[in-house]
Amino acid sequence: MLNLKLFINGKWSDSVNDEKRNIINPANNEVIAEASRASVEETKDAIEAARHAFDSGIWSDMPASERASYLFKIADKLEENASELSTLEMLNTGKPLREAEFDIGDAVNCFRYYGGLITKPNGQTYSVADPVQGLIVREPVGVCGLIAPWNFPLLTGAWKIAPALAAGNTIVFKPSELTPITTIKLFEILEEVGIPAGVANLVTGGGSTVGNELAESDKVDMVSFTGSTTVGRSIMKAASGNIKKIALELGGKSPNIVFADADFDTAVDYALYGIFMNAGQVCNSGSRLLIEESIHDKFVESLISKAKKIRVGRGDDPSTQMGALVGEDHMNTVLNYIQIGIDEGANLVFGGKRITSGGLDRGYFVEPTIFVDTTPDMKIVQEEIFGPVLVVQKFKNEAEAIKLANDTPYGLAAGVFSQDGAKALRVIKKIRAGITSINAYNLAYNEAPWGGYKQSGLGRGLGTFGLDEFSEVKQININLEVSPTNWFEG
Ligand code: NAD
Repeated sequence: MLNLKLFINGKWSDSVNDEKRNIINPANNEVIAEASRASVEETKDAIEAARHAFDSGIWSDMPASERASYLFKIADKLEENASELSTLEMLNTGKPLREAEFDIGDAVNCFRYYGGLITKPNGQTYSVADPVQGLIVREPVGVCGLIAPWNFPLLTGAWKIAPALAAGNTIVFKPSELTPITTIKLFEILEEVGIPAGVANLVTGGGSTVGNELAESDKVDMVSFTGSTTVGRSIMKAASGNIKKIALELGGKSPNIVFADADFDTAVDYALYGIFMNAGQVCNSGSRLLIEESIHDKFVESLISKAKKIRVGRGDDPSTQMGALVGEDHMNTVLNYIQIGIDEGANLVFGGKRITSGGLDRGYFVEPTIFVDTTPDMKIVQEEIFGPVLVVQKFKNEAEAIKLANDTPYGLAAGVFSQDGAKALRVIKKIRAGITSINAYNLAYNEAPWGGYKQSGLGRGLGTFGLDEFSEVKQININLEVSPTNWFEG
């Protein structure tokens, strides 16, 4: 069994209090690893190591091309080990192997993207008053605490670690306590490529201990968090002590809008992909499907007939199309929401139950689930369920579609399906969300800004925005005619 340790100041160690957490495979509840549960003291040690490494300039003063070469080496090693990493990700999360392979490939590209980006010119100039020439330069923020969720463990880690390191910061990374395995492998790679001691530190453990310390510590300059809106709120409070920079990638309840003039088959296909990929455990999933009244019944019928064919199973079964939920507690949360939907009077037209047949009895599997006849005030319409539960809403016209789409506290993602290009663009521009698509859903690119409006977050990761997020901006005013002002003369 894998024994997962902490990586602090270039050294691997068990937690001093020797506390461990069992890491399970949610497809069969088998223990596949044990991970150290770091104490607050150990988190402080990791922060201190990152602080020392940052202040020494060993990483931030390194030429960008050299930092880039580390990122390229990390990408190469991840790629060499992609098969093992995909298998471990599949085992730890319950997702099908083909999804895990996609995630690891995306993580490789993320390191390559930021390795390339950091060597490109990134400053600006201005000239607004004689004889001053102005420069705008970007500098690293300092010590960054990075906190990740469990739904895309290595990928959401890469989305933070690659831009933070590229920009010259030092880091303390905390993976989800449920899914630390692949990030530990990533840190073995960081060690192998020779990242200087203290530049990248890994602390596994709980949110209220390790995570809270990263958010609260005065020695941390920035905290970048991906997870639920509830925890995001507490991070914001904890981070206020030293006014640290914060980046928050939070939850969603995203609308996927289908107009009657959409390409029917494409819209049905993406509606299913939008909610049942990764068993709906996707922050930007299209968990609310808004369908124009005239095609509603036919569309729902088609969804049900296709949902019936989705093969739910273990990630290591090549025929599996949808895997397990991440664990028992989360499965119970999802089943509880399904019960709430029934109690609220929504019409459950497909699924809704845990699956225990076909050898899945020890895992945490829930059927693809579809509710129709919902009203906007229902909890299942307003709250993030984070499981394979599609909530259908009906609309009469464009104005009502926009109103319903914007009617939750979230604003992460949205999709519009229509063959009328002008209408599709008009509608998407009215949706208060950061990650949007027309005639597609669930797209994520390393090159494009990632983040939400409203209670879905603060800031933008990925793309050039991701690098900016991990940078401070400085103006430098250069006096080109060195002479006194004589302001106080005469
Ligand atoms: P979570 O909020 O429960 O936990 C996320 C991380 O925060 C974990 O590492 C956890 O240990 C840590 N944490 C928990 N309490 C903490 C505290 N008090 N202080 C500091 N850290 C703490 O989220 P989760 O269940 O791991 O992930 C699911 C959530 O993440 C969903 O809401 C989903 O929408 C969101 N998510 C958002 C994005 C995005 O890009 N917007 C991406 C993936 C997941």
